[in-house]
Amino acid sequence: MEFTSTRKKQDLTSAQAIAKGLSTEGGLYMPKDIPLFSKDEIGTLINSDYITRAVITLGKFLTDFTSDEIRNMVIKAYSGNFDNNEPAPLHDLNNSLSVLELWHGPTCAFKDMALQLLPHLLTNSAKKIEDDKTIVVLVATSGDTGKAALEGFKDVENTKIIVFYPVDGVSTVQKRQMNTQEGDNVYVCAIEGNFDDAQTGVKNIFSNKEIKELLNSNNMEFSSANSINFGRLVPQIVYYVSAYCDLIKSGKIALDQTFNVVVPTGNFGNILAAYFAKKMGIPVGKLICASNQNKVLTDFINTGEYNRNREFFTTSSPSMDILISSNLERLLFMLTDGNEEAVCQWMHSLNNEGIYKIDENTMKKLQSEFFGGYCDDIATKKVIKETFDKYNYLLDTHTAVAVKVYEDYIKETNDNTTTVIVSTASPYKFTNDVLDAFDETDSNISEFDKVKMLSEKTNTKIPDPLIGLQNKEVLHKTVIKKTQMDEFIKSVLGI
Ligand SMILES: *Cc1c(COP(=O)(O)O)cnc(C)c1O
Repeated sequence: MEFTSTRKKQDLTSAQAIAKGLSTEGGLYMPKDIPLFSKDEIGTLINSDYITRAVITLGKFLTDFTSDEIRNMVIKAYSGNFDNNEPAPLHDLNNSLSVLELWHGPTCAFKDMALQLLPHLLTNSAKKIEDDKTIVVLVATSGDTGKAALEGFKDVENTKIIVFYPVDGVSTVQKRQMNTQEGDNVYVCAIEGNFDDAQTGVKNIFSNKEIKELLNSNNMEFSSANSINFGRLVPQIVYYVSAYCDLIKSGKIALDQTFNVVVPTGNFGNILAAYFAKKMGIPVGKLICASNQNKVLTDFINTGEYNRNREFFTTSSPSMDILISSNLERLLFMLTDGNEEAVCQWMHSLNNEGIYKIDENTMKKLQSEFFGGYCDDIATKKVIKETFDKYNYLLDTHTAVAVKVYEDYIKETNDNTTTVIVSTASPYKFTNDVLDAFDETDSNISEFDKVKMLSEKTNTKIPDPLIGLQNKEVLHKTVIKKTQMDEFIKSVLGI
């Protein structure tokens, strides 16, 4: 399996693509072909556990790794770190509707699915290309990614991780999750400023020549854990394969029967993984792309025009508050059968004008595979309450967006195909807004007490990683000005 860039023809191994992360001309790495599962492999997948399903799926892309190497990485990522050793269980709402719960990992959000594996993919890829430098991962986070990256990289050999977050820009629970992080190679630092300040700071450090040379002379190099690395995409294909196998096993669908997926979407990584699974031969039908009020993707799917020049909304599903969905570039590459020139042109236009329009042919393909819809905060709350009343099932705000868009899809199409709704976070990760859906608004109550209230009110279990968080020792207390980020990095790395 060879890899290329979405913007310029290249020949890379998977280890090279993962170790490099982003191509120098700005393109994203893609496999040259999408591998197909054979009938035999599908049979094996159905009768295997998640670990083996992951080994088989990853093996189709990482052909420069041995099966043993892949198995070792997968075991480190998924064995023992997820509730009941089931990383991606299906919860049935009714006969034709199931929820794929991707939040049973150490940080209670779906980012764990990729970030538990990525550190091992990165370090083993570096080894393969004979790069013995220590990988220093820099993250700017608005909450979820930072904690998931910390949990993934903690105590992974040959890596260090530094996370910056806006001091007043994350929830109480998120802040506590990060500043109690254990591990000998982790550094967490709050910035006086907002998320953009943290992100801009990190970007500036990545392109700072002086720091780069300093790192180099100390045998270190920067890397990023964000979702443009192919190493974050490939673990996400697995749970779609796994969901299909589980639907077959429980008799919900027959071997060649299709099922639709509904995905709460931000950077387009999760739903793109579903499209990969489909191209590999998993019978996915419609891919339903659910957005919040930042509905740039809904408009794109409906009109073929991507326009980021619009108001940005801060919503109750913050992990989807995005106006540039980076992974969409990979979809465009796939829909145009690998047309680098077209992708380049569109991305250039997005960069310069904030807007591009795809051609008629590409738009037809897009619309034959994807449906786009959105849901605002008021409808999000309503759906949390209604779903709880109807199914006795508690949704988080992101998953609620997906449920609402699914309901709209049914109304519009009458398509009653078996459907999987992808659930990306535990409701306890967004307790404030979830509790609000039940009219329990009292701003004087601390978020930790609200966690307890939500549990009592809905008779649901608080996830283990969040229990006792309140009493954990705060290990990271540094708060700095946004201009002091390089100093912080130099000091913790001792360079
Ligand atoms: C990151 C995230 C998303 C968006 O996923 P993408 O792959 O960026 O589309 C949705 N929900 C939650 C809870 C997330 O953390």
